[in-house]
Amino acid sequence: MDDLDHGSRNKRGDWQPTAHLEVAPLWSWPIRPARLLGWLAGYVWPWNAFFLATTVLWCLLVLPPAEVRQQLAVGWIAQLLAANWLGVFLFYGAFELRLYVLRTQGQRFKYNGRFPADQPSDVFWFKSQNLDNFLRSLFVSVPIGTAIEAGLLWQQAQSGHDLSWSTQPGLLAVLILIAPLIHEVHFFVIHRAIHWGPLYRWVHAVHHNSINPTPWSSLSMHPVESFAYFGVAFWSLLMPESSWLPVFFFHMAAFGAIVGHIGFDRLELPGGAAPRTTSYAHYLHHKHFDVNYCDNGTFALDLWTGSWHDGSPEGARLMQERYERKRARMNPSA
Ligand SMILES: [Zn+2]
Ligand SMILES: [Zn+2]
Repeated sequence: MDDLDHGSRNKRGDWQPTAHLEVAPLWSWPIRPARLLGWLAGYVWPWNAFFLATTVLWCLLVLPPAEVRQQLAVGWIAQLLAANWLGVFLFYGAFELRLYVLRTQGQRFKYNGRFPADQPSDVFWFKSQNLDNFLRSLFVSVPIGTAIEAGLLWQQAQSGHDLSWSTQPGLLAVLILIAPLIHEVHFFVIHRAIHWGPLYRWVHAVHHNSINPTPWSSLSMHPVESFAYFGVAFWSLLMPESSWLPVFFFHMAAFGAIVGHIGFDRLELPGGAAPRTTSYAHYLHHKHFDVNYCDNGTFALDLWTGSWHDGSPEGARLMQERYERKRARMNPSA
């Protein structure tokens, strides 16, 4: 597949898609059923279906019974941490190996024409974005996320209640269907908060060091951001108690973080298929900093708050106008 049939490449080698980003068609009138159905299919497939599948695996193979989880013991928590490490290592590693180490696609469909491994920088540990991002993702974020997950699983085990597929499958299915919406709003709110000047410099700058993100950038965070980000699982405390919900929230946060950091618009698969990655909105966030605080636009939160950039020249113009208004506010005498 020729990437120039789907986009254009500038002199720096950066590729951008012809198609512009769109928020969910829930907010435009009249409702167009075909678009709505297409969006609904994309809501489920492939990413949320994948996170649910890994949740099923973990609940069946990794989680011990509630009697064991009633004690905050090293054994089962270490087992959960080991499984989470292995899952993230294999999942992120597969994308990183294929796209950034073996470079099987070369620069085809790659937003930023350069590869971080070719550009050592002092802002990263050991001057290596890859090593810095790898260490932070695995040894800062995954343990913090696992600690929250384990704490919630321990708390749920104390209660003796466990909403499961055998007790109330309908209610559990509804909660799992709305959990990605909670994740989206939670991420938007904490993400806006850590872009506030002092918090940005103290916390979020670590993540934004990766202007040209790769899969290992996904969870490369300051510990405070890791806690706030994986803290989405605390929303399960407001829901009927279920061992499934803390695990699903962890999996959406841990595995789901990769979606915005793949750095390629399409994945070329054996057989000629090249599905889109839906990475572009968050790539634009890393590139332009003050746009697209949400990865995707179910609630159109960026559109409503004026930070939406759809990748079009019009989106770039609106972003520039916002920058100029902000500069005028900060320097009223200029
Ligand atoms: Zn940010
Ligand atoms: Zn990011």
